[in-house]
Amino acid sequence: KRENIRSLTMCGHVGFESLPDQLVNRSIQQGFCFNILCVGETGIGKSTLINTLFNTNFEEHEASHFCPNVRLKAQTYELQESNVRLKLTIVNTVGFGDQINKEESYLPIVDYINAQFEAYLQEELKIKRSLFNYHDSRIHVCLYFIAPTGHSLKTLDLLTMKNLDSKVNIIPVIAKADTISKSELQKFKIKLMSELVCNGVQIYQFPTDDDTIAKINAAMNEHLPFAVVGSMDEVKVGNKMVKARQYPWGIVQVENENHCDFVKLREMLICTNMEDLQEQTHTRHYELYRRCKLEEMGFTDVGPENKPVSVQETYEAKRHELHGERQRKEEEMKQMFVQRVKEKEAILKEAERELHAKFEHLKRIHQEERLKLEERRRALEEERILFSKRKSSCDIFLNQSYMASGSNIKKDKDRKNSNFM
Ligand code: GDP
Repeated sequence: KRENIRSLTMCGHVGFESLPDQLVNRSIQQGFCFNILCVGETGIGKSTLINTLFNTNFEEHEASHFCPNVRLKAQTYELQESNVRLKLTIVNTVGFGDQINKEESYLPIVDYINAQFEAYLQEELKIKRSLFNYHDSRIHVCLYFIAPTGHSLKTLDLLTMKNLDSKVNIIPVIAKADTISKSELQKFKIKLMSELVCNGVQIYQFPTDDDTIAKINAAMNEHLPFAVVGSMDEVKVGNKMVKARQYPWGIVQVENENHCDFVKLREMLICTNMEDLQEQTHTRHYELYRRCKLEEMGFTDVGPENKPVSVQETYEAKRHELHGERQRKEEEMKQMFVQRVKEKEAILKEAERELHAKFEHLKRIHQEERLKLEERRRALEEERILFSKRKSSCDIFLNQSYMASGSNIKKDKDRKNSNFM
């Protein structure tokens, strides 16, 4: 499958060239993948922050507030710093927070993360695996953008983070931190952290087990959630051009640590902990997904009485179980078929009985009708015979009368003739 990867040129320093040697070596040979998921309401500053983090204009179109549901949009870019190549995938949550009913807004995000784990698992389960040059699309970090309200987390934020924390490394950030005052920001940070703890939301902690970065990471964990400002605009400060947001009352410098935590985020995300984020994704989140998925498929490491079970044994047991299940289903189908045939037979028999009764009824009517006709025919015959008898006696009588009248006429004629003579 051909991938749609755009090569972009960065406008300045980002910092991934200083990644640990192991990662750099790997990236020089084949480039390495880093996948960022941005979750936050439309217009909260996601695209601007990503552009600022990577010093690149990623050509994002302004998102609409009228999407009927949340959709995830992924785009992969190839960036290069010195001789280090980075295959960066940015996944954006389009339409997040724009619906009236936000109850299920987290679902497409969970589905997306799971789909990337599933793709990796399928590659891993192949006979001929090619994990070496596999484009790993699993999400390494989720930047969760919190609105700078100064109040507290929204239900949508808590619900979403709660549903994501076992699947991805969450780094919460307070977006547009230039819109909140310094004292309010400190109180807001404390409030957010206590709300996350109270609700049992596990956010990513920068690791403190490696001595070389333990101190800085421990200090950075104290700054969470980072308050960030994004901008690609350059403003002249002193004799230097710096990324900033300019207001009628002053300038907010993105990379000034007195103004916001942008540099802290960039350092932690891109320079210090990129490798750990990838490792945690593989060893914690993917491992959990893989375990649940394989258990769901019926695989297990130990059987009853804690006896180890091999894949072969599980496979045989599953096959046996499926075979039994198939036989049971076949038997059920057979029984159902016999039952259906019996029911059909009974219906047909009933129809036959009804037809027979109808036939008998019609036969009886027909018989009666025939007898009546016979009776009538006999009566007519008798009438006819009587009529014939009467007719013949009538004929005889008529004949006799005719004969008699014939001899009388002759006598009259003879008498008349003798008178003339
Ligand atoms: P997205 O929809 O979350 O990707 O938001 P955008 O990055 O497109 O930003 C939306 C608007 O917020 C734009 O007008 C940005 O200039 C502005 N914006 C972005 N970042 C900041 C910030 O840090 N502070 C302030 N005040 N505005 C910002």
